[in-house]
Amino acid sequence: MARIFTKPGKEKSLLRRHPWIYSSAIARVEGSPGSGETVEVWSADGRFLAWAAYSPASTIRARAWSFSEGDRVTAELLAERVGTAIERRAALAEVTTAVRLVFGEADGLPGLIVDRYADQLVMQFQSAGVDAWREVLINALLAATGCRDVFDRSDSATRVREGLPALSGVLRGVEPAPQIEVHEHGLRFWVDVRRGHKTGFYVDQRNNRRLARDLVAGRVLQTGRGLRGLNCFCYTGGFSIAMLAGGAEFVHSIDSSADALRLASEHAQLNGIDAARACWEEADVFSALRALKGSPPFDLIVLDPPKFASSHHHVERAARAYKDINLSALRLLAPGGSLLTFSCSGAIDVDLFQKIVAGAVIDARTDMWLVGRLGAGADHPLMMTVPESEYLKGLHLIRVG
Ligand code: SAH
Repeated sequence: MARIFTKPGKEKSLLRRHPWIYSSAIARVEGSPGSGETVEVWSADGRFLAWAAYSPASTIRARAWSFSEGDRVTAELLAERVGTAIERRAALAEVTTAVRLVFGEADGLPGLIVDRYADQLVMQFQSAGVDAWREVLINALLAATGCRDVFDRSDSATRVREGLPALSGVLRGVEPAPQIEVHEHGLRFWVDVRRGHKTGFYVDQRNNRRLARDLVAGRVLQTGRGLRGLNCFCYTGGFSIAMLAGGAEFVHSIDSSADALRLASEHAQLNGIDAARACWEEADVFSALRALKGSPPFDLIVLDPPKFASSHHHVERAARAYKDINLSALRLLAPGGSLLTFSCSGAIDVDLFQKIVAGAVIDARTDMWLVGRLGAGADHPLMMTVPESEYLKGLHLIRVG
């Protein structure tokens, strides 16, 4: 078996159980491992560090499968991890049929994403390691779930960095229906696993959509009047439908994708919501928010933009963009109203995001309470040793001034 030797001092992150081995940390490679092949990782002073999957094209040159010398990276080990990942999500079946079954590093399967939409499984093989074990992983999933249909959405940019081709198509079973119906906290949504974003749906925002619904319901009870919601970057309307289901009188939603908006308006119908209570605007949020200046204020505003910073190089530009939309949103928020504001840029951590939003609050000359920090649901756990896997963060602010 091929071996990797780290440079002196570069073993530290592995000893802290962080699974990534950067090419710059490697002193030499013994043997000539192929893409996805299992290698042993050793420190410069001759200590065993990990079993890892080799990725010759990536700057993350290897990803650890295990830090225990006694382990063996076999089909059985990986199948067991798949089974455990699925068992850990069992309780979510109570609230939804859209679940992330496998979340990469957190489930000991670095680079593997599996989402389940009703009985359809969707996989993303984002690293050379899991790509090399495709068949084993697919079979393990079928066995553990009893599902028959598996679709591949391995078309994300991450694969390019791993030197792997973009792939999309049926892996098992039949071609997925163009719209698969899922339930989330009693609401119904359609998911297009072939053409939708990510694997089709933003499963990670489940709890925050629930929060939006509960906030509206609570405020309606408290004030006894009709509430107005604003959902920016609405995609297929998840937060909008949640607010409307919570009793909002009217929700204005904005997205630049006509396809997403079409599905969003169908979601209103699917959930029995009177079309007159929703407005779906196809526009750029940056200019649409400015154009809304002077409109009656909103009681709940959601800002859930796409990733503005794709890497550390784009943090400054992204920070300006986050500040811009947050400032515009704050200017449209009614006294006592809530803002749920998100960033899914991994390169911007929660502290920086909070600073950026605080900057917008200062410029808006208003007082805001921070009443909650938000994140992805329990099926997207954060590995304590891999803080960079915390990509989704949000703040719940209330206007008090
Ligand atoms: N909140 C959604 C997910 C949002 S994804 C949910 O819960 O399902 C981000 C969305 O932003 C995408 O639908 C994309 O089409 C849209 N988008 C990206 N840039 C935009 C822009 N400048 N203006 C408006 N929409 C934009």
